[in-house]
Amino acid sequence: MDCIFCKIISGEIPSTRVYEDDRAVAFMDIKPITTGHLLIVPKKHSRDLIDADDATLAHLMSLAPRMGAAVMAALDADGFNMGVNTGAAAGQIVMHTHVHIIPRYSGDGLVHWGHQEVTREQLAATAEKIRGAI
Ligand code: AMP
Ligand code: ZN
Repeated sequence: MDCIFCKIISGEIPSTRVYEDDRAVAFMDIKPITTGHLLIVPKKHSRDLIDADDATLAHLMSLAPRMGAAVMAALDADGFNMGVNTGAAAGQIVMHTHVHIIPRYSGDGLVHWGHQEVTREQLAATAEKIRGAI
């Protein structure tokens, strides 16, 4: 399969690793949003969060706070964002499940997304559609 993260996991493509166990690796993002930006990547290929199996998801979720705490301690960061882009519309470029750990520094200038103003009725209508799909 022509997957860049599978190639990183196999060692065919180099990466700068900070962590590895039998099911996942964590390495430096090659184009960091902030200093210390890491990717946590399961060794077993899946396309995205929806495609990944529960054991893989559980392992990723257990690693995320460990990696987040490590970047905070090592780099004197003040917090971190955990992000998962799912689908091209959400900005997913690499179609192999991965979790971003983005260290945050007070005053780093990154801004959060904007918000929409909606009515309670609009919220209820949207919620009803989602309930039907779960
Ligand atoms: P996403 O938009 O969630 O698919 O994010 C993919 C991330 O992978 C981006 O932040 C890229 O900078 C990063 N990336 C792509 N290729 C490499 C690579 N060879 N080594 C490390 N990070 C990479
Ligand atoms: Zn892959």
